[in-house]
Amino acid sequence: MTKPIATITRTKAIMEKHGLNFKKSLGQNFLIDPNVLKKIVAKAGVDQNTIAVEIGPGIGALTEHLAFEAKHVYAFEIDQRLIEVLNDTLSPYEHVTVYHQDILEANLKKYLDDKVEDGEQIKVVANLPYYITTPILMKLLKEDVPIHSMTVMMQKEVADRMAAEPNTKEYGSLSIAVQYYTKSKVVMTVPKTCFIPQPNVDSAILQLVKREKPVVQVENEDLFFEIVQASFGQRRKTIKNNLQREFKNRITKEQFNQLFEESGIEPSRRGESLSIKEFAALSNVCHKILSE
Ligand code: SAM
Repeated sequence: MTKPIATITRTKAIMEKHGLNFKKSLGQNFLIDPNVLKKIVAKAGVDQNTIAVEIGPGIGALTEHLAFEAKHVYAFEIDQRLIEVLNDTLSPYEHVTVYHQDILEANLKKYLDDKVEDGEQIKVVANLPYYITTPILMKLLKEDVPIHSMTVMMQKEVADRMAAEPNTKEYGSLSIAVQYYTKSKVVMTVPKTCFIPQPNVDSAILQLVKREKPVVQVENEDLFFEIVQASFGQRRKTIKNNLQREFKNRITKEQFNQLFEESGIEPSRRGESLSIKEFAALSNVCHKILSE
């Protein structure tokens, strides 16, 4: 049996064989620790009823471990040079399909809709390209695709922000966007020494389990996210200040008083103290006022 892809010697040998260098601009920090890979796949709960989706397979380190456990693996890689490498390194695994595709441009519904049968679940498992972590996750969350969960490596600081609770310095509009659609928690931190080349930042695995429906009911999603974003605009300012700046041409002074009174939110509070439920209350009253 060939050695796992994810060792430093085999990774270097594969790159050399194909005359490749690591592209920093594509976030290419490859995993070289088979134990970490095993743990990621176990934490993700990948088994024979899993259709695994990987973003950025690189030279196939994680893909191979997913192939050991999953029913099928679909992997999306942007770098043309790596497609040839993957065809080589993953040749022993017939149930792996690699697409040469920028994930941000992909029509995910088309790719994933007919892939899952009764009793099976689509699980995204990836060591993400860090420069586009948030756009990738937002795309996966907002698009109407039947994803069960995402267990993904990212910059630790970003994972902490996504999973943050109110009244912490990490809590912000990103925490709310992620928690609106998912239940999320950091399941593991991963040292820099597990990658080649080593990244400049610490890394963590965040697990996001998609909710059947958003955690709060809002009348107008765009308005909800606009309010959230505006409330954290200037973190040291009160919620009233931040919202007045955002809505000054759309809401009168009296209506502002009505907004806080009806939603039961003290206007002198700061955005970081509001729960997602409170943001939903504010946005629903705001929607009513704007529709009057
Ligand atoms: N999965 C491999 C591993 O763990 O060793 C590589 C992970 S590396 C952090 C990120 C991978 O994402 C690279 O292979 C990179 O080429 C790929 N990538 C970067 N931008 C992408 C995009 N927009 N769509 C798909 N893949 C992308």
